[in-house]
Amino acid sequence: MLCELLRAMQPLARNWARELPPSELQWLQSHLQQCPACSAWWQREQAWDAALHRAMTDVTVPADLLERIWQRWQLEKRYTYRQRAMRLALAALVLLAATIVLGWYANFYVRPIDLAALTGPIRLPDHPSAEAVTNLLERHGISVPAELQRRWDFRYLKAIYYTYEQGRWLCNLEFRRDDSSAHVVVKLLPRRWCRNDQLEMFRHYPGTAVLGLDEDSPYIAFVIGQPEHIASFYREGDPTG
Ligand SMILES: [Zn+2]
Repeated sequence: MLCELLRAMQPLARNWARELPPSELQWLQSHLQQCPACSAWWQREQAWDAALHRAMTDVTVPADLLERIWQRWQLEKRYTYRQRAMRLALAALVLLAATIVLGWYANFYVRPIDLAALTGPIRLPDHPSAEAVTNLLERHGISVPAELQRRWDFRYLKAIYYTYEQGRWLCNLEFRRDDSSAHVVVKLLPRRWCRNDQLEMFRHYPGTAVLGLDEDSPYIAFVIGQPEHIASFYREGDPTG
């Protein structure tokens, strides 16, 4: 359960986010020292973060950035829920430390925290397909690159959500097999925010893939995951799959 909480806190603890109060940051660091599984996971996340940073242009931080983030958060429908969920999670932790009899309580309240819940997901189509997802995202002003539509298996789409990364809001498509044997995130990046030389490099780099580079779509798809997981989400018959 501690591991679940740590993973839910990760987006808030990134270098450029600095959203965690020192006490929580300290808890997070001490858990990382004690838990090899979380520590390995954390390092992988950091590596992917660094890859994304290199793929995207360096951003000049606007003076009113904090205020704009704050306004954006207030717009998020789940903002109140998120705050309440985090408080409940911390309260639950204290209780758990006090007595394992109350373990069920912590378990009940902490479980709903996941990335999608933190950032507010977009409702998925009933049967995700390249066409259905493309149409859905079009309504949100995001175009799915043709190469992703053609080569990617959309049946395993499990969530669509926004994250604030490298100083921008990004749309994420999360793909996961039902038996959890493979799990990747596809980030839809506006091409004008990207550095072409870096994208070219990440195209065949272990742990990343880039789709949509050779077309003139306004978005490219930046895929992040373990190499064998990425390979498993190409459609059957695709040369890479
Ligand atoms: Zn852990």
